[in-house]
Formats: sequence, structure tokens, C-alpha cells
Amino acid sequence: MHSLDSLAVHAGRDGLTDQGVHAVPIDLSTTAPLPSVSDGGLAYEHLATGGPHAEGQSTVYQRLWNPTVARFESGVALLEGAPEAVAFATGMAALSAVLLATVAGGKKHVVAVRPLYGGSDHILASGVLGTEVTFTDAEGVRAALRPDTGLVVVETPANPSLDLVDIAALAVAADGVPLLVDNTFATPILQRPLEHGAALVLHSATKFMGGHGDAMGGVVAASAEWASRLRQVRAITGGILTPLPAYLLHRGLATLPVRVRAQQSAAHKVASGLGGHELVRTVYYPGLPECDPQGLVGTQMSGPGSLIALELHSAEHAVRVPSAVRMITHAVSLGGIDTLIQHPAGLTHRPVADGAKPHASLLRVSVGLEDATDILEDLIQAIEATR
Ligand code: PLP
Repeated sequence: MHSLDSLAVHAGRDGLTDQGVHAVPIDLSTTAPLPSVSDGGLAYEHLATGGPHAEGQSTVYQRLWNPTVARFESGVALLEGAPEAVAFATGMAALSAVLLATVAGGKKHVVAVRPLYGGSDHILASGVLGTEVTFTDAEGVRAALRPDTGLVVVETPANPSLDLVDIAALAVAADGVPLLVDNTFATPILQRPLEHGAALVLHSATKFMGGHGDAMGGVVAASAEWASRLRQVRAITGGILTPLPAYLLHRGLATLPVRVRAQQSAAHKVASGLGGHELVRTVYYPGLPECDPQGLVGTQMSGPGSLIALELHSAEHAVRVPSAVRMITHAVSLGGIDTLIQHPAGLTHRPVADGAKPHASLLRVSVGLEDATDILEDLIQAIEATR
């Protein structure tokens, strides 16, 4: 089974027939029966130090291991082409675990390529987890490396500007330092960073993976060695994904390729339609040639995705638009079935330092599954009504 479409439907469903079920069971147990103190103790030690659950062993306690979560993880690992994946309660919990594992490995310096999601920028800038950060652009990564650099972080396409970064070139510049790619915007359907030299792939599963705006989660796909380190941090700090959202996120994987392609097709039309409008200064969409000078769509990415950023002629106008949409919802988040609009400088990127914040005349649109003409009409009426 090689096609991503087939993998997305079947990944993580092993053994269901043997269990006599067709849908994935949701195991809500917070604790698991122990065969004896000694066997239970060994299982506890194995799981709490990052080991994967072994066949026949007790799972001990939900903070250490959960079968429903494990099914979602194996689905993500297959889609990303990774040996393993480790799931967390949110995307930020996933990033926190990577940062804590990096510090625990004795390297506290992180090189981060801006722009990043506002929350990711915030956690790095705050240093609250014991990291020290150097923010730079893709060209500045090599010069920013220090002997204690333990991680390079990049988002491509980036939130909210849709900037693209050449992952393979960045992996070379990182010079052996593990490269983490936040692949939330692209999803493994459009981009598989491990194939280009990344060591870790992070997702806010809250977005496209769940796809319906009703489940939060985060996941990191990586080597078995990284997965073990992350599971240890997860067991200690308690950031594991819980079974009900894990079920929903896993179910979301099955329709991920179909949703991503349909949303992308609508986004293409919306981006092109907004392009010529006199009240829109610039449209940022990786599917427009001017937004992809390195030609990464078609090589690194199989398609441009469904996020669009548009710059109006003034910040005053931009802040009025989200309140004037009718079908579209004014809300943060992205990647779901319905179209959302938000003002990054005022909301998702509010904590970012002045100077690195997105321009106040920029709006971000996550294009959903509605008809492209309806989405475009709603955006244009909102832009014109608030001019
Ligand atoms: N990474 C990106 C690119 C995001 O857009 C977000 C959230 O918007 C996150 C990470 C954080 O994910 P979560 O909100 O699931 O914690």
C-alpha cells in the first residue's frame, strides 16, 4: 500500500478484524490491570522512560500509554514516512516536549527561522522552558549556530505570511543539528519534511488532521530515538493526547487527502480572484508564481495548500473586514471544513515582538470546503463594505 490516499484510510487500523470490530475502539481506561507487582513495575519503568508498549505488557496508566492514541500515532508516522510518532494534548504541548527534550539532552540553544506561529514564537522568545533562542531567517541559520545549539526550528509554509523555505537547503545549513519542521500548513499530503532532511516533523493536529474544528492535539513524527525521548518527557510532564480527541484526529486522517485537495482547489480560485481587486494590495499564496521564487511547489510540496494571506492598503481597513463576513467565520485556527478569517497582528501573533509581528494590514484566510465562488463573494463584499 503505497498511495497516501490508501494509507490515510487504513493507517492505524491494524488488528481490527481480529478484534471483531470495524471502527477503531475508543479505550477510555485511565488505568490498566497489572498482572503482578514485579511485571507491572517493569512495564511502568519501561513506559515512563520512553519505551513503546510491548505486546502482552500492561499499559499501566493512561499518561504513559493509550491504545487509541497509539493508533493515531501510527497513522501519522505512516503518512509522514517516519519510524514513529508521539501525540500530545495540543500542538504547543508537542513543541514544549521537543524543547524540554533538547534541554534535557544538554543543548539549550535553539535557532528559529521567523516567521513562526505566534505561540511558537512566544514560547521560544520567553525562554520559559530553559531554552535560549536566536531568531533569524533561512539564510542566517548557519551563522547563528553555536556549540550548544540543539535544535533548528522552521515553519514552511509559515504562519501567517505563507513564506516557503527550502527544507533540504536548511538541513544542510543546520550542519547536523536536528531540524524541526512545523508541517501544520502543508500536512503530509502536500509535504513530507523527513524526505528532505528534517529530523522532526511537528503538527498542530487541531488543524487539518482533525479537520472539523472539534478536537485539539499535537503530534511529532521522528526517529525511534527521538520518539523515546519525547515519550519520556510526555510521561513526566503529562502532556499526552487523550483518547476521545485521539479517535477524532485518527478518523480525520482518513479524509485528509480529499479535504486538503478540495480546499486547495478552492483556495487557488479565491487567491486568483482576490488578486486583481483594487482594495487588495497583495495576495500571498504559494500557488502564485511570485510567492514561490524558488519553485518549491511541485518539488518540495506537491501543492500550495489552502491558506491565503492578503494585505490591504491600510491596517484600519484590515481590522474592520473580519467583522463584516457573512458565511465565513471570524475566528482563529485553520485547516477545518469551513472558511475562517483572522487578523494575525491583533490575534494569533499578538505576543510576537514588535518588529517581527505580521504587518497590521495583513489578514489570514483558511479556505474551507465551501464553494470557491461563495467564499470569494463573501470576502469581496466584506472588503468593499468596510472600505
Ligand atoms: N503550529 C502552527 C503552525 C499553528 O498554527 C499552531 C496553532 O495555531 C500551533 C503550532 C499550535 O497548535 P495548538 O493550537 O494545537 O497548540
